[in-house]
Amino acid sequence: MAAELRRACLMGHPVAHSRSPIIHNYWCKRLGIAGVYELKDLTPEEFPAFARALGKNGYVGGNVTVPHKEAAFRLASARDAAAEAVGAVNVLWVGDGRLMGGNSDTHGFIANLDERAPGWQVPGCRAVVLGAGGAARSAVYMLRERGAEVDIVNRTAPRAQELAARFHARAHAMEASARLLASADLLVNCTSLGMAGKEALRIDLTPLKRGAVVYDVIYVPLETALLRAARERGHRTVDGLGMLLHQAGYGFRKWFGGSPQVTPELRAMIEADIVAKTTK
Ligand code: NAP
Repeated sequence: MAAELRRACLMGHPVAHSRSPIIHNYWCKRLGIAGVYELKDLTPEEFPAFARALGKNGYVGGNVTVPHKEAAFRLASARDAAAEAVGAVNVLWVGDGRLMGGNSDTHGFIANLDERAPGWQVPGCRAVVLGAGGAARSAVYMLRERGAEVDIVNRTAPRAQELAARFHARAHAMEASARLLASADLLVNCTSLGMAGKEALRIDLTPLKRGAVVYDVIYVPLETALLRAARERGHRTVDGLGMLLHQAGYGFRKWFGGSPQVTPELRAMIEADIVAKTTK
């Protein structure tokens, strides 16, 4: 008898750009799992009712993206430690009839860094994080969990201060960047600056400590101007695609089971999709 088809979805607004269906449907096929991952474009008005009835709507769970991550946090009956810490849920699943929430951006952020820049965590590691939005929350939380000293630089000072207070980090104005870079072992861009269609990130890497790793969570384009400049100066660089790929496994295991792997084949598929859609 054929196994019953398990369905998961991405809930957001908009969602059409998402690469998540490619990732999850690749794993279902590779692992021989009767599962499918779909897109659900839901307005903020539609999302709560849809998520509350996720099981009744025919889904075993799903990912949550902009702008619903905080609403998903409030809707979940129980949450994992990472979601509690960052105050956002990006994975929902139905367990014992209850809506459960987790945060996999945190895992994706650090697994990607560990994989692409092994040894980044030098003794007394100091990290400079640019930005104080959702991605920065995940980054700062995980870096602090690993014991790194974290300096946050953001355009809007109160957001940086709130984030710094939450995770025992330090907040700074943009003007402090040059001084902070001189002693940084890791520089992470968590702003949306440098993303295709957005303004450029303007930062002078001249003062950056020799040997520092430079990580940009953006993955469209795959190599941002920041990463290119860092590579040209001889720094190890980490792009944001691995964060997307590694965060996906958490939800997949909750909904479909199995042991999904971030393979070179999967990465190449997503890279090809990004290149095809950004060079059109
Ligand atoms: P967000 O919550 O909207 O935060 C955006 C951040 O960028 C804020 O710190 C904001 O500063 C800053 N920013 C935006 N425009 C700016 C400008 N003109 N000048 C200076 N700072 C500016 O967004 P997010 O969810 O954190 O996402 C940030 C980036 O990470 C996006 O490009 C997203 O695609 C990427 N991301 C990647 C992954 C992945 O899996 N690789 C996961 C999540 C996010 P203010 O506080 O001053 O507004």
